[in-house]
Amino acid sequence: MLTIALLRSGRGPSPISLLATVLVLSGLFAMLRDRRSTTPGLDQAHEACDELYDPACLSELDGGSARRGLTARAGGPEGPVLSAETACLNVGYLCAELEATGMVQIRRWKDFHGTIVVHIPRPDFLSSGDARRLQVAAATGVRQWNGRPFPISVDERGNRESHFEVKWRRSLGGRQIGAARTQWSAEEGLRVLMLELAAQSPFGSGTLEPRQVRLIAAHEMGHALGILMHSDNPRDVMYPTNTATSLSAQDYKTMGALYALEDGTTILR
Ligand SMILES: [Zn+2]
Repeated sequence: MLTIALLRSGRGPSPISLLATVLVLSGLFAMLRDRRSTTPGLDQAHEACDELYDPACLSELDGGSARRGLTARAGGPEGPVLSAETACLNVGYLCAELEATGMVQIRRWKDFHGTIVVHIPRPDFLSSGDARRLQVAAATGVRQWNGRPFPISVDERGNRESHFEVKWRRSLGGRQIGAARTQWSAEEGLRVLMLELAAQSPFGSGTLEPRQVRLIAAHEMGHALGILMHSDNPRDVMYPTNTATSLSAQDYKTMGALYALEDGTTILR
C-alpha cells in the first residue's frame, strides 16, 4: 500500500502548455561488452550507452534531458505534486533517479482498460529459422508484463489491430540494442509509437541469442508501459544494461507503484 501526500492539485493544461508537453520520449537500452572482459571494479554504467542514463550518450542525441520527461516545464508541473518522503516509500526503483534529477514525473497509460495488442513480426532480414526464434523470444519478453497491469496479447501475423509494433533493426548504432519510442501529453497520457529491437550484436558477433532478445524486449516493454526511469540494481530487467536474467520482484513492484499514482504526478526530491 502506498502512502502518498497530495501537496497541490494542478489546473488542467492550457492548449499551449499541452503542445509543449507532447515530447518524444525514448528509452534506449544498451549492451555490455562481453562481461568477462569488463575491467574489474569499473562501474557497469560506464560500459554502456543508454539515453536515459548515460550523460555522454545523452549529448549525442537530440532532445537530451527534455526527452526524459524529467525536466521542469515553464510554469511548473501541472498535475499532483508529491514529496519524495511520502511518494518514494516501498516503490521499487521508481525514485532511483530522483537524487540526480531532482524530480520524476509519472508518465503512464491513462484511462486505459482492456488488452494491449503488440504486433511482433519476424525480422525479415534473417534466415527463417533465426527470424522465428527471435520473434518468439521478443513475444516472450513482452508477455512477461502480462497482467502488470494490463493483459497483453501478441499478434505475430499483423492481422489484428495493434496498439504498437516491434520494428526490427540490424543495428541501432553504437552499443544500443533496444529503444522504446513514446509520446506523452497530460491529456492523453503515454502513447507508444514503436519498440525497436536490434537483431544483431553491436559487437559484430552475429545474430543476438534469443535469451538476450527476450530480455531486451522485456526492458523496452517496461518503458512502453511507463517505467521511463532505470533501476540501479543490475539484477532488474530495467537496469540500463542487459545484466538481468529475468524480471525481478523489484521490476513488478515498480510497475505497481507507477500505476498506483495518478498519471502526470510529479515527485520532487
Ligand atoms: Zn532503458
